[in-house]
This record gives sequence, structure tokens and C-alpha cells, in this order.
Amino acid sequence: MQIVQPHLFIPGPTNIPEAVRMAMNLPMEDMRSPEFPKFTLPIFEDLKKVFKMKDGRVFIFPSSGTGAWESAIQNTLAIGDTVLMSRFGQFSLLWVDMAERMGLKVILCDEEWGTGVPLEKYADILAKDKAHEIKAVFATHNETATGVTSDIAGVRKALDAAKHPALLMVDGVSSVGSLDMRMGEWGVDCCVSGSQKGFMLPTGLGILAVSQKALDHNKNQNGRMNRCFFSFEDMIKTNDLGYFPYTPATQLIRGLRASLDLIAAEGLENIFARHHRLAMGVRAAVDAWGLKLCAKEAKWHSDTVSAIFVPEGIDSANVVKTAYYRYNVSLGVGLNKVMGKVFRIGHLGALDEVMVGGALFGVEMALKDCGVQIRMGSGTGAAAEYFSKTATRSATSRDEATGRKAA
Ligand SMILES: *Cc1c(COP(=O)(O)O)cnc(C)c1O
Repeated sequence: MQIVQPHLFIPGPTNIPEAVRMAMNLPMEDMRSPEFPKFTLPIFEDLKKVFKMKDGRVFIFPSSGTGAWESAIQNTLAIGDTVLMSRFGQFSLLWVDMAERMGLKVILCDEEWGTGVPLEKYADILAKDKAHEIKAVFATHNETATGVTSDIAGVRKALDAAKHPALLMVDGVSSVGSLDMRMGEWGVDCCVSGSQKGFMLPTGLGILAVSQKALDHNKNQNGRMNRCFFSFEDMIKTNDLGYFPYTPATQLIRGLRASLDLIAAEGLENIFARHHRLAMGVRAAVDAWGLKLCAKEAKWHSDTVSAIFVPEGIDSANVVKTAYYRYNVSLGVGLNKVMGKVFRIGHLGALDEVMVGGALFGVEMALKDCGVQIRMGSGTGAAAEYFSKTATRSATSRDEATGRKAA
């Protein structure tokens, strides 16, 4: 143990607000008590607000996000179904791998890492699929490995232009609660999330939002996949009464209650704006260091995570290791194709300007230590400049719920 806890700037798990941590510190409770539904039923409703869904429901599984990926596939598709997917980073890659292992026939768009969902290709493929062989279209909203955000509204447009009935499946694990997710407006049918990123909780909940269309599809589907632990039907039967088909992770759900309260108090739109500002500060620093983001164009820039290339001849893993050991700062490593080439700064969840400044300060020292030619203070200075110019808090008063200017 050390007196100062490690500074966590990885894109999940993220920092847990004190109120959330305290809310989870309670004696074990009876998950079949007659009082339990009073606690659980409002949580399902409040989660729907975070996903901005019109109809449908949200499932909470005791799993990580990967379990929610599996549930989405298993409950809405059949073995041998054709689906459209794209791969441009470690997380979109893993979802493709899962789909193939579960018996789906994947039409794959293999894209350059640093780009995102290829809208024109999707539009083209969907327009040509007159027989509607494609049963679902997959999109990773925020590719955490490369710091790329894709245009989900654009995927909806491609589907609508082709008058295509396929389901729209979105991975929102590192976006929901931090970036705008409009399930209803964008016609998203399954949106996958997890507890340890935008929801600011420990790992352990797979959170899956499902549209009414996908729920109906689930009922009517032929040649369905076997399902048990992640079954929608089993969940629905018990969830409707405020219970679960097996022991829920009650402590985590207590934490989720607290996190949903914090999200409501700050307001989703304020939270998105905060993430955007913090990301802009990070990008100002990257610019000032003379380094490049992995995301190839501004339209791909992620407001929750930045993957940053180190110069040729430098090993990014060494930068991450140096930051960890020498400065007590945890950064994200480069995964798979970008291993050794990028390091990542996670800037999502419970975070503000000073914390981001600390991350940049640590990065600056670690970069210099590893032989990257940067001017000390250049990145932190650029971020500070940006943050002070765009400050959102009042200099003389404080709104306790948000820490922001009272409206
Ligand atoms: C973290 C992450 C996952 C995996 O979630 P786990 O909770 O680790 O199972 C999937 N997709 C994206 C985009 C992620 O960031």
C-alpha cells in the first residue's frame, strides 16, 4: 500500500466517484425481499433515459460487457444468419470473432485502424442486398483501442436509404453515459454497455438495451440459438416483477443507483459537453507535443479515449511502463496491431480538468524519460490554455450537484 493511490487514466475501469463507492459499502441484502422491487424497477426506467430509448427494455447481467455482446447475438439471431460487420481495432475485432464463433456468417469490412464504420460501404452492401439476406448490421460506436468514434446516425441512414429491415447492433461499452447515444432516434436495436466505463462502477455488470423490434424478433425467430444464462425470456419474466432469474450483483446495482443519480444531477448533455472539453484539452496537448493521434481524421476523434502514436524508434509500452512505475500514472497500452506504437489516455467517467492535467503532466515526463523530444510544459500548457479559455464553472459560486455555473 502507498499513501497516494495510483492515478487511473485507462479507458476502463474508470475512476469511481466517492458517492458510488460508499453506496456499495453495505451489508448483503435479500434479493427476494418484498421491498427489493421498489429498488430495482426505477433502475430499469432510469437506465432507459441514459440510452435515450423510445421503447424496449434494459437488461442487467452479472457479467462484463462481453457478456452483453453475447446476449445480444444469442437472443436475436440464428446460427447461419448473415450479418454485416466492420473491424478497425481490437474491440470491433473481438466482436467479429465472437459472431463467427457463435455461427454467424459475417460479411466483413476490414478497415484501416484509425478509421471507423465505413458508411459508404455499408450503404452499398445494404442497397445490393435486395433479398434481405443480412439479418443484422453491427457497429462499434467507440473503438477503445484506437480512440475512434463512429457515426451511428449514419448507419441508420444507410439502412433507411436501402429500406433494409436488418437489426442495428451497437457496441456502446466505452460511449454510453459519456457520448450521446440516441437509441430511439437512431433506431438502434441492441446497445451493449458495461458498468466499468461511463457508468463509473467496478466491472461486473453487462448492461444491454434492447428495442421493441429486437424483442419481437426474439419471439418470432426460427432456428434460434440456445440460450440460458443470457436469456431475454428468463430475464423478462422476473424483471417485470422487480427480480432476477438468478442472484443479482446487488452491491453493484446499489452502486448503479448512485451513479444514475449523479448522472441525472449533472445532466446527460452537461456530461457530454464535459467529455468533449476534456478531450479537446488532451488533443491540444497532443498537438503541442508534435505527436499524432491514431484516429485519422477529426470526424473520428473520440471524446472518451485518445490513442497517441509515439515517434518511430520509441516503444509505447515503455512509455506506459515508465509512467506507471516512476509517476504512479496508469495509461492504456497499444493493443494488437498498434502494440508498441500507441499509448492511450482514457478520459471518460468521473474526471475533470485538473485530473486530465495530471495525466498530461505524467505523460509529458514519461515521454521525455523514454527519449521523445518534447518541450516540457508544451502539452500541459496548451491544455491549461484551452481549459481556462473555455471554463464552464463560475469563479465565485458553485452549484453543488454539477460543480458548474448555476443556470
Ligand atoms: C471495454 C470494451 C469492451 C469489453 O468489455 P468488457 O467489460 O471488458 O467485457 C467491448 N467493447 C468496447 C468498445 C470496450 O471498450
